[in-house]
Amino acid sequence: MPERITIIGSGPAGWTAAIYAARANLEPIVYEGAFTEENRQKGTLPLGQLSLTTEVENFPGFPAGDLTTFLDTSIDEKKRKYMAPHGKEGVSGPELMELMRQQAINFGARIKTDDIVDIDLSGTPFKMKSLAGDEFESHAVIIATGARANYLGLESESRFKNMGVSACAVCDGAMPRYRNNQLVVVGGGDSAMEEANFLTKYASKVYIVHRRDEFRASKIMADRALANSKIEVKWNSQIDEVLGDDTNGVTGVRIRSTVDPDVTEELQATGYFAAIGHTPNTDFLKGQLETNDKGYVVWPVSHRTNTSVDGVFAAGDVADDHYKQAITAAGTGCAAALDAERWLSARGLE
Ligand code: NAP
Repeated sequence: MPERITIIGSGPAGWTAAIYAARANLEPIVYEGAFTEENRQKGTLPLGQLSLTTEVENFPGFPAGDLTTFLDTSIDEKKRKYMAPHGKEGVSGPELMELMRQQAINFGARIKTDDIVDIDLSGTPFKMKSLAGDEFESHAVIIATGARANYLGLESESRFKNMGVSACAVCDGAMPRYRNNQLVVVGGGDSAMEEANFLTKYASKVYIVHRRDEFRASKIMADRALANSKIEVKWNSQIDEVLGDDTNGVTGVRIRSTVDPDVTEELQATGYFAAIGHTPNTDFLKGQLETNDKGYVVWPVSHRTNTSVDGVFAAGDVADDHYKQAITAAGTGCAAALDAERWLSARGLE
């Protein structure tokens, strides 16, 4: 028997879709991703990008405050043991994701900690294969696989991955090599501001290297970074090379002026953090859905989550290169579940 609805992805879009689909008695199955080294390297582990962040200050309903009791009563005791002790800042990204996951379970969503690695959308029901070897069919599919952090693509960047090169300050920033040392963050968006500010907890100094003379980041986050005495901005500069050796990993970067390419400067640093935007996680779709020029899944009809393939719906960052917020991802996750439910119901498959 085919599944009625399969949800691929486990960020706010995936879990919200699962909550709505489960409450509609569709018994959704959620492929939340696998804990593999490849996924860790790419930044595509289960629970998505929010599991790689700290406080989430802008998700409505979670003001600053101590949520300890709430978390203790809502999340499974075994999971709570692995979650960091709670402060007073409000909810953290990993906590928010665990809460959404638990809420989906409470309503009957089934979860597979596994990746969908192959999908055939050429006919219904859609055929899928997972990394662990599951082979099954599903009438409707919601793609909610999100997006992952980009790197510049320098050879020296990949050479020193795990030896001082990272795209996730929250995951790696507390490691000894970054403590009391100088670090470099490249980028000028909110991610770069957030990473740089976070890293000042550990680093003696953080350089933000940005290719223009103004940030793309929101004013509040840019102002916070500019006001941080441990942060120095290298404007109009790009990374020419990540410097280092096999024993020490990253030892610095060479930057080049984007105004006068003859001008270079070497910055001493033990860490280099890329914060230059994201790529949607659509590789497994192998071009079977219409995507835009940046690779994001297209929603052909305004205010609907249908994709170019009838019966396949998309939600969250995988289809949103504009807003890219947890709350907008959750919103489109809800919409995708409602759209899918109506699609199934119109075909007598609910
Ligand atoms: P982004 O807004 O797209 O910014 C990417 C930055 O990287 C830009 O400053 C861009 O420079 C730079 N960049 C891109 N390619 C580059 C290259 N090849 N070489 C050098 N620099 C390069 O991405 P983001 O910062 O990851 O943010 C994505 C979305 O998530 C945004 O909507 C943001 O608001 C949101 N976000 C929110 C929060 C929060 O509210 N707490 C935190 C993080 C992210 P240019 O400016 O010159 O293009």
